[in-house]
Amino acid sequence: MPMPPSTSPPLTSAQTQLRQLVADFTTAEVDPRVRRMEAHPDRVERDLAVLMGAQGWFGVTIPTELGGMGAGHLAKTLMLHQVAQSSAATAALLQASQLPVSMIMHFGSERQKRQLLPPVAAGEQLLSIAVTEKDSGGHVLGMQTTARRDGRDWIIEGSKRYIGNSHLAHLHCVIARTAPADQAGSRALSAFLIEHDRPGLTVKRHRPALGLHGFSFGRLTFNNVRVPARNMIGEEGDGKDIAYSSSILYGRPNLAAVSLGVHQAIVHLTAAYLRSTPRYGATLADLDVLHDRLGRMRGRLTAARDLAYEAVHRLDHGLACDERLINSKYLSHQWAVQSGQDAMDMHGARALEMSYPLQRYWRDVQCTYAPAGTGEVQRKRLAAYALGKRTTEWSRKLAPKTSLFRAPRTP
Ligand SMILES: Cc1cc2nc3c(=O)[nH]c(=O)nc-3n(C[C@H](O)[C@H](O)[C@H](O)COP(=O)(O)OP(=O)(O)OC[C@H]3O[C@@H](n4cnc5c(N)ncnc54)[C@H](O)[C@@H]3O)c2cc1C
Repeated sequence: MPMPPSTSPPLTSAQTQLRQLVADFTTAEVDPRVRRMEAHPDRVERDLAVLMGAQGWFGVTIPTELGGMGAGHLAKTLMLHQVAQSSAATAALLQASQLPVSMIMHFGSERQKRQLLPPVAAGEQLLSIAVTEKDSGGHVLGMQTTARRDGRDWIIEGSKRYIGNSHLAHLHCVIARTAPADQAGSRALSAFLIEHDRPGLTVKRHRPALGLHGFSFGRLTFNNVRVPARNMIGEEGDGKDIAYSSSILYGRPNLAAVSLGVHQAIVHLTAAYLRSTPRYGATLADLDVLHDRLGRMRGRLTAARDLAYEAVHRLDHGLACDERLINSKYLSHQWAVQSGQDAMDMHGARALEMSYPLQRYWRDVQCTYAPAGTGEVQRKRLAAYALGKRTTEWSRKLAPKTSLFRAPRTP
């Protein structure tokens, strides 16, 4: 199926070439692996992490002087959108290691950037971001994992769950409590780099989920894990800002792009099915009611595409866009789910066959609801904009670091 018209913004020739490169890669490397990933949901897909790492894709937003592609946020969206059309699990793997890149680029010291980002860009080192806990979920400030100062070290104690690339990451960027909430308020959390082989760190056995088979989002436990003070990212008390900013500037657009890719695959498959399925002396595509539903699906897809690309285009240009990033994540998931349900209905019993990809798309798209903020959390933020409440505008605040251009503008 042709892409929805790319009204805003038009792609540059470098971006068009990148999209073709990614499409060729997914045809050659991802598509042939999907069947195996689906057949073995208890296994974590490692080969594709290595292959995508070798392409340099984990460093898509890392500046060229640090070995990265320096291609920016729209390029990242384009990549995730393309990969997710073949496999949302592979796109999830690619996106999960980008959030900690943002943490280091925006808050890390010069030494941390020079030491950590070139191996990520070269595909030699994979990162994870570990925030979520069993008893706090999306309430980040409610977390209970602690970091206690001990001489020149910090001792980490607690556990995290649903951590993207938990089983692949060489280095975990962990947010932990360094002060009681009632004393330090929003400065009660700090961020730490924890190597995967630190004594006391355990990665629990991979357990398959409803969807995203092959992608690990598992549990980490920290039992008196000792890390040197130089492993702190930013200053003590920066943890909430680090978690929030990476979620807004990277998490939201990443998940929007993954939903978008699955959405496109759903619309493509459904159009092909309607066109090729004979009924009543014509095809299903000739039934007015199904024609109408397909039109609605295409309308949502095109709008989701424009929202997602416009938001990251603004990020690349140093323009304020938090609300667009939030809205895009929210609607991209919601619209993909609606189209997914339309598609299931329109396929009749065919939708249920495990050998047919629709059930995989339907399961996978359920998995983009929770990460980087559930629907309720996005709506809370959108309502705050409607009510004129002031919140930190991360795209504006970090514009000099997120923009591809030297002199960011504000609208
Ligand atoms: C595929 C996937 C990848 C993930 N990757 C990572 C990762 O790499 N790192 C990481 O740290 N975490 C990750 N997560 C976890 C994700 O960030 C959490 O699932 C999310 O923060 C929500 O937490 P929860 O699932 O515990 O739900 P809860 O926060 O417990 O929410 C339960 C329900 O309460 C609602 N709710 C919660 N708070 C509010 C509120 N303030 N107002 C109104 N309603 C509210 C929610 O919308 C939801 O309906 C991942 C999750 C998935 C599914």
